[in-house]
Amino acid sequence: MRYSQAFIPTLREVPSEAQIPSHQLMLRSGMIRQVAAGVYSFLPLGYRVVKKVIAILQEEMDRIGGQEFHLPALNPIEIWEATDRVAAMGDVLFRLENRRNLVLAPTHEEIITYHARQHIKSYKELPQIWYQIQTKFRNEPRPRSGVLRGRQFLMKDSYSLDATWEGLDQSYQKHYEAYHRIFSRAGLRFFVVGASSGAMGGSASQEFMVESPYGEDTCALCDHCGYAANLEVATSALSPVPRLDSSPPLELFPTPHAKTINDLIEQFGVPEERCAKSVVYIVNSQPVLILMRGNDELNEEKLASALQTTQFRPAEPEEIVDIFGAAPGSIGPINVPDSVRILADTLLQETNGLISGANKDGYHYKNIDLVRDVGSIEYFDLRTVREREPCPQCQQPLRIVRAIEIGHIFKLGTKYSEALGATILLEDGSEQPIIMGSYGIGVERIIACYIEQNHDDKGIIWNPALTPYDLSLIGINIHKEPAVQDMAAKLYEQLQQANFSVLFDDRAVSAGIKFNDADLLGFPLQLIVGPRTLKEQTVEIKIRRSGERLHVPLDAVISTVQEQYHKLSEAEI
Ligand code: ATP
Ligand code: MG
Repeated sequence: MRYSQAFIPTLREVPSEAQIPSHQLMLRSGMIRQVAAGVYSFLPLGYRVVKKVIAILQEEMDRIGGQEFHLPALNPIEIWEATDRVAAMGDVLFRLENRRNLVLAPTHEEIITYHARQHIKSYKELPQIWYQIQTKFRNEPRPRSGVLRGRQFLMKDSYSLDATWEGLDQSYQKHYEAYHRIFSRAGLRFFVVGASSGAMGGSASQEFMVESPYGEDTCALCDHCGYAANLEVATSALSPVPRLDSSPPLELFPTPHAKTINDLIEQFGVPEERCAKSVVYIVNSQPVLILMRGNDELNEEKLASALQTTQFRPAEPEEIVDIFGAAPGSIGPINVPDSVRILADTLLQETNGLISGANKDGYHYKNIDLVRDVGSIEYFDLRTVREREPCPQCQQPLRIVRAIEIGHIFKLGTKYSEALGATILLEDGSEQPIIMGSYGIGVERIIACYIEQNHDDKGIIWNPALTPYDLSLIGINIHKEPAVQDMAAKLYEQLQQANFSVLFDDRAVSAGIKFNDADLLGFPLQLIVGPRTLKEQTVEIKIRRSGERLHVPLDAVISTVQEQYHKLSEAEI
């Protein structure tokens, strides 16, 4: 492509609407433009990268036996109602005002299950892996960070259909490995975390993550052994609060000025771990008292898994007074009304010597023995892991990091096949719902995360796998010196014949502008020809990532470019 004819609207200034490097650089390099909040056009340069990502996705999905579909974005609302997901998706699901029986699909479990129900009748027709790379619509409440969180975006979504649970394990494992290959080939540094299955339902799920201060997820990472988990499920090796040998009788004592755990610690010199913090939630309209160790933070995702529902909220102070007869700072597990279910974090499991509110304003109990003094307690892991706590695998300190989710794999089980009646006949003649998995990768997120990890103050640093063009060919003073023009045009031909995609900067602009744009666009190699190289009959090759420059005789240019390109591709694997 000749730059003089290309539509690459680069921007010199950093656009004020963009806060994070990938968003700034995608705008500045003319890859994308925003059309509405969370809605972007990919311009020709950006779309070349999209197509490269799509090619990697197709190759790796085909390699595990995936068959590519193209499913409609418009879906009949009735199948979304059949799986209860109109309610579960809430406002995220785009509805159509002038055609109310259709919705815009945010994902495609329903349609896949619909086709499976139509045609798959026997275990003999399974397993299947079906995939597509297609536009998804989600009415995200806060679209942000450019294409990282859009209201319309491209997703590679695939679905496995199996007759057995072992089959599902295999399909899931195939995806796990394919995802490793996809993200590695794209040049991303990533890690995998166990995740909560959330609204998707199902048993197991893992997320592929890229560490980034701009991520909206939080993960616990161990740099020592590689343990990684979303904070929703992360654990640590903290020891439970040990039982004391003696368990003296309960003792009520006045605490008129203690409203918080820190007040208790300061005013009475008690160790933090002996304080049981009481938190009250209303779960499906019923009160639940939750005991946490000291100042440990209750994790609502863990609570959701423990309770198997997301229908809960913290109780209002007035509700607490109504139920416990005391204000929030004075409540605890002793003398609790029978209607209140009691949960506790596993760090408090069957321990004693605890202090907690007495359900009487201005009083606490000491010497609480959870085994002796409190009726039935259900123990769950409910706390949020903190920075530097010991890794659950190797005891080294954990790091808590922000991360961007780039891919997600789920064992769905039979939730969708049951809801939509997609059943098969087994060998023994019995009928059973198809066992499903669902697997997604965001195309734009791969691109934005790559740029987050590969840029400098001058621009993007593309690798051979994703770069929109293999190289920039920069002609200096080309419009003034016909001999340079000739030399550059010849090289342009030769490079294309050698199968390189070339952006030939033949514009009548200064060398400075050309160099800056080449660095901004960031193709792996820049070839520079000008009056000086003409005289020497050489070409200057600049390697974008290292900044290294080579001066190569004209007749060795193609072989050197091939060699350098090979080196750069190898370096990534
Ligand atoms: P998030 O938690 O970031 O909202 P999600 O868990 O809802 O994502 P999935 O339903 O698991 O996303 O979708 C699969 C993949 O699609 C994600 O891993 C991500 O790469 C991509 N993706 C999801 N939502 C968006 C979005 N709004 N914009 C761009 N890509 C997205
Ligand atoms: Mg997800």
